[in-house]
Amino acid sequence: MSEDELVEIAVEVDGEAAEAVVELFNRYNGGDWIEDSVAGEASGGGAVVETTGYDDFGGPAASELSMTVKTYLKPGPRGRGIQRQIEEGLWHLRLLYPMPEPVARTVKEEDWAHAWKEHYKPLRIGRRVLLTPAWEEPEALPGDVVVRLEPGMAFGTGLHPTTRLCVAALEKWVRPGDAFLDIGTGSGVLAIAAAKLGAARAWATDIDPLAIRVAKENALLNKITLERDGLFIEQGSVPEGLAGGFQVIAANILAEVLIGLFECAYDNVPLDEPLAPGGHMILSGILEEKAELVLAAAANHGLTEIERRQEGDWVALVVRSEDAD
Ligand code: SAH
Repeated sequence: MSEDELVEIAVEVDGEAAEAVVELFNRYNGGDWIEDSVAGEASGGGAVVETTGYDDFGGPAASELSMTVKTYLKPGPRGRGIQRQIEEGLWHLRLLYPMPEPVARTVKEEDWAHAWKEHYKPLRIGRRVLLTPAWEEPEALPGDVVVRLEPGMAFGTGLHPTTRLCVAALEKWVRPGDAFLDIGTGSGVLAIAAAKLGAARAWATDIDPLAIRVAKENALLNKITLERDGLFIEQGSVPEGLAGGFQVIAANILAEVLIGLFECAYDNVPLDEPLAPGGHMILSGILEEKAELVLAAAANHGLTEIERRQEGDWVALVVRSEDAD
């Protein structure tokens, strides 16, 4: 194999497995040398995703979303070592998600740069939100809300159904002037989208310091700032001392964690404490069979279900607090 060749590893997956495969590729194959090969256009990204078969306007169902996730390795012992780690990782993932064996082939280095640009496409969610990889210039329509993201560095690139469900709900429930709280912000996608949808203030927290770093980078990429847009990002969970301060709260975490946050299992203030009277909370990351448990925990805090969104097995619930009077 010559110096200008790379090994491409490709796996065909549906929407739910894609995020896990992207994470795996980035874990073993993220980093600087990939940045070199695309002239700094996509820092730290080790995975390329091609999406097919989704309906641009209706939003895809996870099971209908077929994707090929690819990563590219340099020749030599280091590349072969990474390839072995990736293949082992995929073997483990196949126990959780049905997916075919990975396909490895040799490609010219220029093909990789080309593939990266060609196939990671903007994704339209709801009527006017476009999630787009950082370097794309999407064909936005007037009134579109464009959210730029570095792919694969923290959870929340739009590849996971739970993120898409939240973005669609935000489009409906965030009103201009609202204060918005995003608990478990990951890539920052929801807070950035809310700011662009007209929220006057957005507050984003995550317990993971890496997520905080990535969310700040993505905010910068979208030119969303504290001074102008009121976006505040800090490490943590449910913020204290802000009771009743937010018209809309989103928490896209797992059902078990959401229930724990309602029940103060993490030594936290209750999940709904920051919610304003008559405010809306978007609860996501919930497998269908756990929806009733989450609703019961929410009901203990006077919250009632007003909307349910579903993609594959994943459910997002919109619950509302009682009005002040
Ligand atoms: N909001 C993004 C990311 C969701 S992934 C999206 O919608 O795509 C869930 C995130 O919640 C992770 O980044 C994880 O670090 C964070 N998280 C997990 N438990 C948490 C807790 N108790 N409080 C705050 N964040 C938490």
